[in-house]
Amino acid sequence: MKKHNYSAGPCVLPQEVFQEASKAVIDFNGIGMSILEISHRSKEFIAVMDEACDLALELLNLKDKGYKAMFLQGGASLQFLMVPYNLLKEGGKAAYVNTGAWSGKAMKEAKLLGEVQEIASSKQANFNYIPKGYVVPSDVDYVHLTSNNTIFGTQIKEFPKTSVPMVCDMSSDIFSRVIDFTQFDLIYAGAQKNLGPAGATLVVIKEDLIGQSGRTIPAFLDYKTHLEAESMYNTPPVYAVYVSLLNLRHMKKLGGVAAMQKRNEEKAALLYNEIDRNPLFEGTAAVEDRSPMNATFLLKDESLKETFDKMVKEANISGINGHRSVGGYRASMYNALSIESVQALVDCMVALEKKIK
Ligand SMILES: *Cc1c(COP(=O)(O)O)cnc(C)c1O
Repeated sequence: MKKHNYSAGPCVLPQEVFQEASKAVIDFNGIGMSILEISHRSKEFIAVMDEACDLALELLNLKDKGYKAMFLQGGASLQFLMVPYNLLKEGGKAAYVNTGAWSGKAMKEAKLLGEVQEIASSKQANFNYIPKGYVVPSDVDYVHLTSNNTIFGTQIKEFPKTSVPMVCDMSSDIFSRVIDFTQFDLIYAGAQKNLGPAGATLVVIKEDLIGQSGRTIPAFLDYKTHLEAESMYNTPPVYAVYVSLLNLRHMKKLGGVAAMQKRNEEKAALLYNEIDRNPLFEGTAAVEDRSPMNATFLLKDESLKETFDKMVKEANISGINGHRSVGGYRASMYNALSIESVQALVDCMVALEKKIK
């Protein structure tokens, strides 16, 4: 039986996407060959890449606005390095907002290439909130943010107003909510959370940002290389891009990002209401900063853990253990998770309360 999959990433994708993706492994579009055995330079695959890049821009409402989309490799983690290589000038400075483990890793790479100013941080509170009211200095080459903090269950609701280029790691909430994406100059996301399989990374960049750092950049790390080669500088992760395309089409069919947001808000309301109502549980993130994608919560009485874990398992729920740096539970409710799956978890929470009464 299909599990209620709360995995933080790689994670649930729509069942329809899996079905279509599995067909292409045997025979891609009726061409008598598998998607896995055709050249990435075949017209069939070039069409896949073109449509995936195009649809990504369309769903973010960034078409014909000076942006380009690329599918790269190395995960979001390689973007931690590619961003400063391409945007941080020799002797320049970059501003980072430190909202979790991933922001920290991004800062670490940037420090290899220049001065990093941590302009805000919630580290002292184990990242359980999003810092606000900070000012982005005007003399930095860019400011870097992490829109959703996958491990700590927080999400930036309002982005700073600034004239410096804004870079955002959206790995765990891209395509989940409508925001004005034109406020960003560079967006990146590892595919494996809301887009597709692991192995592809979506990068959306404002074209006029390229070639500004004045550095000699290794070819593979240079956005220009990949942009000019239309994401085909070397063999791309063909299957990851193809399955991402299927999911992009699926999201469009369901009504695009606005429809995703509506579903995500319903799911988040259902679970967070139960976390707040049920006297046995408590959320770990500041209420106003809670992420609809990753809900982090604890059992107030740890001795109930074994009982609750057993109930969850019997309800066919998988993947809700919290990250080791927070403990407790983390329910990742990415786009493809159904409201029925959320209800199954809520039912377990209600049942635990009844059981121990
Ligand atoms: C998962 C995640 C990453 C790391 O992604 P990789 O593709 O594994 O490198 C980076 N940032 C955020 C916000 C994430 O959730």
